[in-house]
Amino acid sequence: MHGMSFDHQTIGSLLVNLAWERGDSPATMTQRMGLGWSIWTRDMDRSLGDRAVQLISVATGLPCDQVRAMTLTRRLQDAGIPTQRNGFQRWLTPIGIYHRQRLRYGQLFCPVCLQTGPAQLRLAWRLASNWVCSTHTVLLRDGCAQCGTPFAPMRHDALMLARCDRCLAPLRTPVEPASQTECHLQIRVQSLWRQAMAGDGQQLASFHEALTAVVRRDPQFRLSGEPWNFWRVAERRELLVNVAQATLAGPASHSSLMRGVGLKKTSKPGRRRCTGLPADPSARAAKLMQLAARVRFARRPKARIARNA
Ligand SMILES: [Zn+2]
Ligand SMILES: [Zn+2]
Repeated sequence: MHGMSFDHQTIGSLLVNLAWERGDSPATMTQRMGLGWSIWTRDMDRSLGDRAVQLISVATGLPCDQVRAMTLTRRLQDAGIPTQRNGFQRWLTPIGIYHRQRLRYGQLFCPVCLQTGPAQLRLAWRLASNWVCSTHTVLLRDGCAQCGTPFAPMRHDALMLARCDRCLAPLRTPVEPASQTECHLQIRVQSLWRQAMAGDGQQLASFHEALTAVVRRDPQFRLSGEPWNFWRVAERRELLVNVAQATLAGPASHSSLMRGVGLKKTSKPGRRRCTGLPADPSARAAKLMQLAARVRFARRPKARIARNA
């Protein structure tokens, strides 16, 4: 136990804040720390090498363990998820760093958190299971509403200023409220993570399995071929809502959900729920097909921008 949740800030977030306090550019600061500037060309929020962890620990006075806990790889491991250093990673949204530019829309953010809270990136904003800020009950965003660029918080003080690094538009707008139903579903999904962190990852694994199965069973999806954690948050939202409703809400609460009533009353504490998918393989397949039909996928979400866009 590190006493940290996905609410904690990422390591990159910590470093840009530190640089800001010192009046340095992030690159100058990491150069001085012995980390070099090239750390900004990598996805450091995903994982850090041992040497980098040590250098950051020395510079910040934080124990190595705590530094490592600010990376997603460590947090995923704590939840019992098998991880790999590079390439596809279950649950993780990709940011596609090329030099210091971001080519993918994997960095989520809550516009209200950025406006009212400390200028920090939460670990939760790189998890593909998140689409709502449950503190502010608004939808998470992944880019600039003005120019469409992916959020690149480490460039040009974009995080500290809460502005788009390219066109300087403030990121605090637009704010889209999430429905009560969606908020409850998001909280339910987050509880699966807490459960996994506490050593029981079975329901989280089942939820992942259901999400992936629904996408794979969609005949059109096979043509587009991008894993669902690579999609933009607006497209993923529909998948998450549908699958969470079908597999986590339980049959009794389903009709009340459709009327926009929350899940609160139907969740019985102390009683373990199953995932809601039938155990019989053919019944299970039928249910997943039904789910796939209900999700209206954007067939080819522009999840990636061109290198020199
Ligand atoms: Zn928020
Ligand atoms: Zn912009």
